[in-house]
Amino acid sequence: MSVSAQELEILSTKAIAAKGTAYCPYSKFQVGACILTTTGEFIIGANVENAAYPVGTCAERVAFGTAVVSCGCRDCRTLTDEEQVAGHKSFKALAVATNITPAASPCGMCRQFIREFTGPDFPIYMYDGEGNYKMMTMDEVSIHPRGVEV
Ligand SMILES: [Zn+2]
Repeated sequence: MSVSAQELEILSTKAIAAKGTAYCPYSKFQVGACILTTTGEFIIGANVENAAYPVGTCAERVAFGTAVVSCGCRDCRTLTDEEQVAGHKSFKALAVATNITPAASPCGMCRQFIREFTGPDFPIYMYDGEGNYKMMTMDEVSIHPRGVEV
């Protein structure tokens, strides 16, 4: 299941924009994420820090958590109760964006979280501060995580 050029364009734009929603008063390190579901929905996340460091959550986990509990539609009033709680558990790609170069890769906790819902070939597009990306599959990023992990 490959990602089209148009889907990748939207994915990157949303992941980069999502950095702006980060709550990171402690690290000042903004991370944005965007997931593309197999049904064509784009769901964003950003890091949400806490004064107690381990309580903070990474952008990737915010995005996946949001997807799992969200119907993802633009107008929930048209859905049945069952559809509203159906959530997303099938995903096509993930983009993660930071302001550093080289691009950062998901941390160990996020890799574990992402793996729960994806397979070894799941593509992760990692964007650096200039909008350049490196793509690695879930398998590759798990075996050879590179750069700073976020
Ligand atoms: Zn993480």
